[in-house]
Amino acid sequence: MCWFRADLVAAAVVALAAATATASAAPAEAVLATSAATPSAPPAAATSAAHCSLSDLEKQLSGIEIYLPGSDQFTQYSARWSNVGAPIVNVTVLPATENDVVQIVSFANKCNIPFLAYNGVHGSITTLGRMSWGIDINLSLLSGITIAADGQTATIAGGTNSKVVVDTLWAAGKQTVTGTCECVSYMGPALGGGHGWLQGRHGLVADQWVSMNIVLANGTLTTIDANSDLWWAVRGAGHNFGIVTSVTVKIYPRVYTNWAIETITFTGDKVKAVYQAINDYLLRNGTQPVDVTNWSYWFNDPAVDPNGPVIQLYIIQEGVTAVDPTYTQPFHALGPVSVVPDNGTYLDLAGWVGITLASPPCQKAGLANPRFPIYLRSYNATAQQAVYSAFAAATNASSPFANSLFMFEGYPTEGVRAVDPDSSAYAFRTDNDLLIAPLIQYTPAGPDLDRQAEQLGNQLRNILLAGSGSAQLNTYVNYAYGDEQPQAWYGYDQWRLDRLKALKAKYDPHNRFGFYAPVV
Ligand SMILES: Cc1cc2nc3c(=O)[nH]c(=O)nc-3n(C[C@H](O)[C@H](O)[C@H](O)COP(=O)(O)OP(=O)(O)OC[C@H]3O[C@@H](n4cnc5c(N)ncnc54)[C@H](O)[C@@H]3O)c2cc1C
Repeated sequence: MCWFRADLVAAAVVALAAATATASAAPAEAVLATSAATPSAPPAAATSAAHCSLSDLEKQLSGIEIYLPGSDQFTQYSARWSNVGAPIVNVTVLPATENDVVQIVSFANKCNIPFLAYNGVHGSITTLGRMSWGIDINLSLLSGITIAADGQTATIAGGTNSKVVVDTLWAAGKQTVTGTCECVSYMGPALGGGHGWLQGRHGLVADQWVSMNIVLANGTLTTIDANSDLWWAVRGAGHNFGIVTSVTVKIYPRVYTNWAIETITFTGDKVKAVYQAINDYLLRNGTQPVDVTNWSYWFNDPAVDPNGPVIQLYIIQEGVTAVDPTYTQPFHALGPVSVVPDNGTYLDLAGWVGITLASPPCQKAGLANPRFPIYLRSYNATAQQAVYSAFAAATNASSPFANSLFMFEGYPTEGVRAVDPDSSAYAFRTDNDLLIAPLIQYTPAGPDLDRQAEQLGNQLRNILLAGSGSAQLNTYVNYAYGDEQPQAWYGYDQWRLDRLKALKAKYDPHNRFGFYAPVV
């Protein structure tokens, strides 16, 4: 079976190489060798190599770019943000139109070649590593946003990154909910629900959708909206059902121009008091004000605290030039190392919390960046103390994990909870006051270190789970490590997984979209 599949991909890639002027000079045998050495579970329907000539495909494509291993472009486009459990591809194809995506998916199906959408390449779930050969359908050329004449909606191409969406709408006096990080795609977060600064007002990123164009597993391009049975599934489990080539979303007038932040830094000995105060003064038993966000990070900065990671708390408020002291004063009273206020506009938020295009989290530096997420309703201050001690011990200066980051994200949830919890595949609307994840960062050095990172991440997460008093691990699929059960990504109500599986059987019976947090 392996030699047969390798033969297919060789035929396809040789044909691809012959068909394009932009292909590199990488020898096809090398591509073949890679494919043969790393077989992955194939899609069900195999065909013969005779059907894999690309000459017909090429004629139908418009300005498509194709790159093979050995070319700078292949290296550039296939590089990923996290290098543990990452997918392996043999060819990078850049469709220039929605129809190109149709042709590529149809070609891959006919030739029984695995494929995966590459967008902002920040997907880090280790199930992606089940892809050991195939086509990277890189969506970079499908970028752009068009605002409808009535100003109520905008249509976003499937490969547009968040910053393009934010900046374009802002310039037009508009906004919508997007992810917070400038280098992450618009679509990647949205397919799993999508958390962002404006979710307190309007709901998750996917809650803004009006309709979408999607290339299904059988290679057909279709437009779906609330009338489609697939609509429920794409909003939360969207990675499993197709390649979204464009989406039309609700947009809103830009009402609050001003934003303010206080960055409050503490040494680790304050951990218990800080998180109790977040509970008492910000989260307020599930009623965090709609205009307030609290984030915090733990990371090593020996100049500030030589004994352990520092705690950096961000209190962010919309519509003001200084954060209301009602929210900040209780933290000033705890004796922080520093308090740095700032103010600006919505466009400054990414810079304030270190996630602009130029910031370290946006770089593809060859590092492993697994996260181990958990959703919580509030902090257990005792568990925060315990998990801080464990994190500090495991990330000291001599540890390979010394550059790790513990992330605590507390977005407002009013808009998220206003949406019927059963109306989408996103399952955790009433349980997501806090999105917490240790990010265990290290330079890859083989499976032993990967295992150590996995053990550490799970150890930390389990401390928080135990502290929550719940036996049920709720996670955000877009941060997930990959060892969680599907219930932890898609919810524990049996009807949710049953419904996803039924839709999968209907729309993707051969599980072509089965690499990212697979439903089956
Ligand atoms: C620095 C950083 C900041 C982040 N900030 C946020 C945030 O603010 N809010 C939030 O909710 N999440 C955030 N995330 C998590 C983010 O949602 C996931 O990492 C997401 O998978 C990234 O999408 P991507 O397009 O960048 O990555 P990719 O790896 O390109 O995509 C991930 C997967 O999504 C699927 N996919 C992507 N595009 C399409 C498409 N057009 N059609 C069909 N399938 C597609 C594919 O299965 C792909 O494997 C952040 C992650 C990082 C690393």
